[in-house]
Amino acid sequence: MEQYPVLEGQLVVGGHKIVRLAARVGQTPFYAYDRGLLQARVAQLRGALPPAVKLHYAMKANPMPALVGLMAGLVDGIDVASAGELKVALDAGADPAEISFAGPGKRDPELWQAVAAGVLVNVESMRELPVLAAAQQALGLPARVAVRVNPDFELKGSGMKMGGGPKQFGLDTEVVPEALAWIGREGLAFEGFHLFAGSQNLRAESICEAQQKSYELASRLAASAPSPVRFLNLGGGFGIPYFPGEQRLDLAPIGANLAGIVERAAKELPEAGIVIELGRYFVGEAGLYVARVVDRKVSRGQVYLVTDGGLHHALAASGNFGQVVRKNYPVTVANRAGATEREVASVVGPLCTPLDLLADRMHLPVAQVGDLVAVFQSGAYGPSASPQGFLGHPAVVEVLV
Ligand SMILES: *Cc1c(COP(=O)(O)O)cnc(C)c1O
Repeated sequence: MEQYPVLEGQLVVGGHKIVRLAARVGQTPFYAYDRGLLQARVAQLRGALPPAVKLHYAMKANPMPALVGLMAGLVDGIDVASAGELKVALDAGADPAEISFAGPGKRDPELWQAVAAGVLVNVESMRELPVLAAAQQALGLPARVAVRVNPDFELKGSGMKMGGGPKQFGLDTEVVPEALAWIGREGLAFEGFHLFAGSQNLRAESICEAQQKSYELASRLAASAPSPVRFLNLGGGFGIPYFPGEQRLDLAPIGANLAGIVERAAKELPEAGIVIELGRYFVGEAGLYVARVVDRKVSRGQVYLVTDGGLHHALAASGNFGQVVRKNYPVTVANRAGATEREVASVVGPLCTPLDLLADRMHLPVAQVGDLVAVFQSGAYGPSASPQGFLGHPAVVEVLV
């Protein structure tokens, strides 16, 4: 992929040629995340979106502590989805004032931890409200809340829809006024609204439409709010290209659309900070999964490169994390990246299941045992979203370079 240079036939990650990096890591398989690419991606977004729009990193995309530490210094806030993620964000030095905590099924101790930490809770159920009120009372600290709204529309063309119709996420638009009244009556510290319509979208016009509708809905609901809206998270859903033929998301129309929203908000919700939250868009293209070829087999004419890595570390790349039809992630033989001698080969892992497939009949440099296979677009939903215990192979190592 174009974001990684090739030097003397080797892929270069974070300034390191891949063979030496593998030696430095000391084992395969490993994930490598490129600091420079992460910084460049944040800068690119800052350049394309209005300066008033705050960027939050949804750390479920990649919770590696060193990476979260780097991101905490680059973005305006961190979105967490569990007390475990909250700990990583706080350890990383993220400002609690700029951390928000979303997710269904927050357990009581998690809600208490959030109040004690001073972070914003995106309320997803009426059940959370009395727990937060009790924590506020007992701890003598404000329970900072935003209401996550399950809107009555969805993000069109998204890989994963997380709003519209019946959902476990957020409060249905219809019950939001009741929640707002409760928050006002019990004196919770109301800050605003959170809307998240979907994920992995490559169509700017769909994202603009969802952001527009989200803004309008929040603006309507603000009429029932107990205090002015100070926080308005319009979601994200920015996708990255994984498969051949996919077009990169065009940020220009999104920037223009958000500029219009910022302008309206300045009049209608003058205290509101507009936030967008992104996971994979920040980190997905900045990461590689690297595995070593341990066997080269030919079965009835088809070449199999059997590696020490597979779906137990890279479930998404294997096609088993939400894909409807399996397609290949971009893959190369990283220590022969410039090679002209190529063949059709499948890259598989060591697991005893045909699902353990990293590349299905791809055109790749001719590889031998000991070579390094790299899977691109692997910086998001990697190890933390994979069944590492499945079949008892060694755990993967992650490095930030
Ligand atoms: C998963 C999630 C995200 C991140 O999604 P990406 O596709 O990685 O950008 C953001 N916000 C919420 C509420 C989420 O659940």
